[in-house]
Amino acid sequence: MKKLIVITGASSGIGEATARLLSEMGHPLLLLARRVERLEALKLPNTICVKTDVTDVDAITAAVALAEEKYGAVDCFINNAGMMLLGAADTQNPAEWKQMFDVNVLGVLNGIHAVLGKMIAKQAGTIINISSIAGRKTFPNHAAYCGTKFAVHAITENIREEVAGSNVRMTTIAPGVVETELLGHTTSDGIIDGYNQWKQSIDGGMRPLDVANAIAFAYNQPQNVCIREIVLAPTKQQA
Ligand code: NDP
Repeated sequence: MKKLIVITGASSGIGEATARLLSEMGHPLLLLARRVERLEALKLPNTICVKTDVTDVDAITAAVALAEEKYGAVDCFINNAGMMLLGAADTQNPAEWKQMFDVNVLGVLNGIHAVLGKMIAKQAGTIINISSIAGRKTFPNHAAYCGTKFAVHAITENIREEVAGSNVRMTTIAPGVVETELLGHTTSDGIIDGYNQWKQSIDGGMRPLDVANAIAFAYNQPQNVCIREIVLAPTKQQA
């Protein structure tokens, strides 16, 4: 059997498409999200689904231990869970910023913390962090979200330099707009309408599978080849 891969936020969108693809490629999976019923509904073979909030590092660590008992060491950990609460700095509820930083930044660090030590000891492994094009440049109403995604870029590259000598790979995937549930959590109807109009003007976002293919491409390189970053966006997305 192929090696164990962990995916956070596999209950919808990019995480779900990535779970389906990597399962088709023969990998046993550990899938983490809060909506565990959506993970179980995927009915993927050799897959353990655990209801997990990525802000809880102990819960991630316990789930990893459970899966490793059955399938051996984690070879790849995909930090995909995230949320996008768009808003203007003067009007947005600050509680939304905290929620986003907790999930998008600390959640990613928690996932890294759960597996990195063992990867260093084994001198092998891959951590793939899903950032965004909003981790490279700014957009209207995205200040806090961009802050979280710039952080994901920085954290990934910083740790990549630290663990390169241990033969561990760190990869950033930075997509432009993708058709998922991501926008659904933004609380401003005006911002949602504007975002959807913009999306229509470029004939819609990419499919989650397009991003999953990029993740699989990076992972499937030999261990001595590290794809540091992939930026992909709809061709008609100008910004
Ligand atoms: P979705 O909203 O469809 O998926 C988000 C996933 O994150 C869900 O599975 C959700 O699971 C999970 N999640 C959210 N909060 C938590 C939490 N506290 N603990 C565990 N899981 C959590 O959106 P996408 O597929 O689009 O998002 C995936 C990643 O891609 C995110 O990091 C996003 O920022 C990034 N991205 C998306 C783009 C897009 O245009 N869609 C563009 C660029 C980057 P559950 O609610 O069940 O816990």
